[in-house]
Formats: sequence, C-alpha cells, structure tokens
Amino acid sequence: MKLLEERIRKDGQVRPGNVLKVDCFLNHQLDVELLDEIGAEFKRIFGKEGVNKILTIEASGIAIACMTARHFDVPVVFAKKAKSKNIDGDVFTSKVQSYTYGKEYEITLAKKFLGPEDRVLILDDFLANGKAMRGLLDVCKQAGATVVGIGVCIEKGFQNGGQELRDEGYKLASLAIVDRMEDDGTLVFRPQE
Ligand code: 5GP
Repeated sequence: MKLLEERIRKDGQVRPGNVLKVDCFLNHQLDVELLDEIGAEFKRIFGKEGVNKILTIEASGIAIACMTARHFDVPVVFAKKAKSKNIDGDVFTSKVQSYTYGKEYEITLAKKFLGPEDRVLILDDFLANGKAMRGLLDVCKQAGATVVGIGVCIEKGFQNGGQELRDEGYKLASLAIVDRMEDDGTLVFRPQE
C-alpha cells in the first residue's frame, strides 16, 4: 500500500534491535484518516471471505481492527495481555513470546466471544517472527473458529513469521513489507502490485 509505505518513509524511525517505530501515526498517536484507508484496503482484500468477526491483540491492534471493522460492519474482539481474574469462568489462553519486550506473556479471550460459527479476520500492526499471530491462531483453534484471513500493516520480511504462515496456506496480506532496515534509517520495501 503506497500510502502506508510513504508514511513509514516519512515518519518511521529505525531503532536498534530491528525495531521500527511508527508511534506517531500507527500505534500511539493515531492518524485516523490513514487508519480508515488501511481499513478500506483490508476490505478490498478480504471482502469476499465472509468475515463475521475481527480478532486482534491489545493494545496496538485495536485501533486498526476497529477502523477496519467499520468497513466490514462486524464486531471486533481483542485478546488481552494483562493478567485478569477469570471472573465469569471460561477463557481461552495461549502463551506468546514478546518481540519488543523479550518476555513471555499470556493472552486471554473470553470463550463467549469466539466460537465455531466465526469466520475470523486476524489483524495486527506488525508481523515479525509471528509469535503474537501464533497465539491468536491458537485461540481460534481452541474456539473451533475458521481463520479466513490474516492482515498486518507492516511485515518485517527479513524475519520468518510471514513466510511460515504463507507456507502453511494462510491468506496473509501485509500492506507494507520491509525487507531490509539499517540503523542509519535505510528502509527497503518489497515491491508489491
Ligand atoms: P512477532 O510476534 O511477529 O515476532 O512480533 C509482532 C508483535 O511485536 C506485534 O504485535 C508488534 O506489536 C510487536 N513488534 C514486532 N516488531 C515490531 C517493530 O519493529 N516495531 C513495533 N513498534 N512493534 C513491533
């Protein structure tokens, strides 16, 4: 998605440890117009998949999921990272290794919000090694839900999460794929149609 690539070039910052900061438009301060365009693009890509629910992970995925849900007219549900007391019973849980913090954490999702009747589009801001996505896929599997698509705003193509998911047959759409980034700010995007 040209608009997103241009914005990453303009406002993205490369940080040590292969971290790309996009917090002035995507995951801290939010450019709502850009997010709306992103939602429209996901609708264009996944609009025929019969999506009836969008699943993401807190916190960065929520805004992207909500803006996309406006285009699909479906509910959003997000996996929680904070350890919460299992007050009204049943939750799905899965363990995730955090890329940005280097720690393992648990995600939870109330069972009442995901089930076999759901055709799920999973969305997130970044895809790197795919650990967060694995947690969300695991939750969908536990729920018996069908994953009809995976959409991410930025895939780091030099890490293997995206390739593994494609090899497994998932319909994965990454709106911008960064194939190389250097500490001096150099960014190389994979050409897309
Ligand atoms: P993965 O689990 O695929 O290794 O990493 C994806 C998760 O880590 C995303 O949910 C995202 O929040 C975070 N992440 C991974 N790489 C980056 C990055 O370069 N910049 C930012 N801001 N977040 C990242």
